[in-house]
Amino acid sequence: MDRRTLLKTGSLAALGLGFGGCAARNGVAVAPSTQFVKLPPVRASWDRVIRTTVGLRPHRPSGFVLKAEKFGAKTVIHNYGHGGSGHSLAWGTGSMAADLAIEHGERRVAVLGCGTVGLTAARQLQRRGFEVTIYTEKTPPYTTSNMAWAGFTPTSSLVTAAGRTPAWEAQFRQAAEISYRQLQLMVGPRYGVSWIDDYGMMDSAVPPQRRSTAQRRSADRPIPEPDGLLPSHLETGRSVLGPGEHPFPSPYASLGLRMRIEPSIYLDALMRDVIIFGGKIVIRKFERPRDLMTLEESLIINCTALGSRELFGDQELTPVKGQLTFLVPQPEVNYLVNGILRSADGSIHRVGTMPRSDGIALGFMALSGVWSLEPNEDAIKRTVEAHIAFYEIMRGRQPGIQGRRVEASRDIPKLESFFGLES
Ligand SMILES: Cc1cc2nc3c(=O)[nH]c(=O)nc-3n(C[C@H](O)[C@H](O)[C@H](O)COP(=O)(O)OP(=O)(O)OC[C@H]3O[C@@H](n4cnc5c(N)ncnc54)[C@H](O)[C@@H]3O)c2cc1C
Repeated sequence: MDRRTLLKTGSLAALGLGFGGCAARNGVAVAPSTQFVKLPPVRASWDRVIRTTVGLRPHRPSGFVLKAEKFGAKTVIHNYGHGGSGHSLAWGTGSMAADLAIEHGERRVAVLGCGTVGLTAARQLQRRGFEVTIYTEKTPPYTTSNMAWAGFTPTSSLVTAAGRTPAWEAQFRQAAEISYRQLQLMVGPRYGVSWIDDYGMMDSAVPPQRRSTAQRRSADRPIPEPDGLLPSHLETGRSVLGPGEHPFPSPYASLGLRMRIEPSIYLDALMRDVIIFGGKIVIRKFERPRDLMTLEESLIINCTALGSRELFGDQELTPVKGQLTFLVPQPEVNYLVNGILRSADGSIHRVGTMPRSDGIALGFMALSGVWSLEPNEDAIKRTVEAHIAFYEIMRGRQPGIQGRRVEASRDIPKLESFFGLES
């Protein structure tokens, strides 16, 4: 069955739907608003789908590794395992890796890996006067870093409650502080970093009671957001919009601001910067640690993400598969929205939209332990159809924006067909 047929026969666009989901965080301001927020809906349809991307987040239950290790005559400074937070933490861990490197007498350094972590580490080393060569199997646009949703999400799929230690938490906080500040200074078209309005659909104006870790874990979010890890000053506040104040088919919506990165612009700009500051990028794959001995540099920064599982035998590294489906860009769409969509039969559908200049990214997926880079066709179908339905309803609720009629349908995917697959 092709995608257009699916739209006709299985579309969620014709459902009567209720919404719930994303709650404002604890401690947010609940400020009543008096104006209706009018937003241009995404023109979600199968014929506007342009690509699906898959990436494997490099997760470690005990969080990223940032430490120096001796390998014969070489010193390796590890900087890997950033889970779903690599874009958010890389400037920080890169800065801390460069501080470890400076203790070493050598001023020529090899950086392994050319994703967001390797590139930012390279720049932090160059800022301290190092001569940098990046050695890497792949460069952008073929790294995991290119496949990211890429919001400032410094605790996403990063660490488990049991894996956290006070020493690691101190490293995390330092890395998050440095990154948050650095990314703010990169806002603008050159690096593709910007602030964007971030809406979350809510059932109630009052943020629900904090749920237990077990409750917060779900099939589509296997690694729950950690409690109390991110200092509150690294987040902007959120307000709550009540019924009649927002176009979303949920009683309430939270509104905040999020910094986000457009990976295709950002990673290319970082590669250019590395080269402008005298760095080199060499395509080379390392199969085993003894390959490192052939490098001229005695100081090595390891930013190989999941590659460190084979290269350095880190069995703690686990992939968390993510998938995004992109629609044709719409420059007028300049807001994020997230939430859970519930259909009349109780099945739930995740809505998540990130507009960028290279396409509007839809979906959320986090499948732990899955190594496949193949797109999941069922997840694409559910993601696109949920967004078609969502934007149809949103269009109909906005004064002055023409909507199509939304009717009940019996072609609703069952709950069990949704869990564990949906993005
Ligand atoms: C769907 C999705 C959504 C995401 N959303 C966000 C988000 O909103 N915010 C956020 O902060 N993060 C997000 N992430 C996570 C983020 O993308 C990762 O944390 C980040 O890309 C990790 O960067 P990295 O440089 O360590 O890894 P990579 O980008 O994978 O780079 C690793 C580099 O090492 C090289 N390499 C590996 N092994 C070898 C070897 N043996 N020899 C030579 N070179 C090697 C590779 O070729 C590559 O260049 C998301 C990820 C996905 C998949």
